[in-house]
Amino acid sequence: GALTDKVAIVTGAASGIGRAVALAYAREGAKVVVSDISVGGGEETVKLITDAGGTAYFVAADTSKAEDSDRLVRQTMEQFGALHIACNNAGIGGPSAPTGEYPVEGWDKVIAINLSGVFYGCRYQIPAMLQAGGGVIVNMASILGQVGFANSVAYVAAKHGVVGITKNIALEYAAGGIRANAVGPAFINTPLLKDMDSDTINWLVSKHPIGRLGEANEVAELVLWLSTDKASFVNGAYYAVDGGYLAS
Ligand code: NAD
Repeated sequence: GALTDKVAIVTGAASGIGRAVALAYAREGAKVVVSDISVGGGEETVKLITDAGGTAYFVAADTSKAEDSDRLVRQTMEQFGALHIACNNAGIGGPSAPTGEYPVEGWDKVIAINLSGVFYGCRYQIPAMLQAGGGVIVNMASILGQVGFANSVAYVAAKHGVVGITKNIALEYAAGGIRANAVGPAFINTPLLKDMDSDTINWLVSKHPIGRLGEANEVAELVLWLSTDKASFVNGAYYAVDGGYLAS
């Protein structure tokens, strides 16, 4: 496979897009560290990988805690001896309210997981990748890392921030052999959208020229490609996977 002998961390890998990325990495031969706060879902992802003949290991970690992100990298090194690839994917949606009424605790939580969590991940992954002679980071942004979305100020700010973190890493570590890119999915059919009613879903669908929401594996294929040597000249960029959402 394209990732044979590589060691990869995927955060938020108990569900949705993260699970699809973990499965895609494993299919291409990577040893995958599946990480999440959800133990049951994480172990289920490991089982899906090992049942398919792949190699995976679960580490429970909360991305919003720097010490968990540090421990995740250390446990990866202990288990598989190196770190080459990281997909910083864990994220939440957060409350829905206009900015002047946005719950401050909601802001703090979304920023802690969706923005600080990505920084903490990169902060500890980069030294391990330098030790391996290089690596690849794929940070999970969103179309909302490029445009606004009413009633979602914390999510929009965090995802714009993820794009910024990614650009900085590209500048700082290209010479060290690390490539970093951000992926921007439009609305994807995952448990993240589970609280939306059918009217909201239909309205969301109408914003995608392709006429449907995306599927987790359609995001995973882009993440996979960015993580392989086929993307050797791709660095510091933002790639939408959005059925045309941003084209309008
Ligand atoms: P999901 O809810 O299916 O999966 C998210 C996973 O992250 C869950 O397993 C959850 O337990 C985990 N998680 C939450 N908080 C965590 C924490 N503090 N530490 C570790 N793990 C934590 O959602 P998804 O749709 O697969 O979302 C994955 C990523 O894709 C998120 O960053 C999300 O913002 C982004 N995204 C999703 C969509 C979409 O429409 N579904 C669109 C654009 C971007």
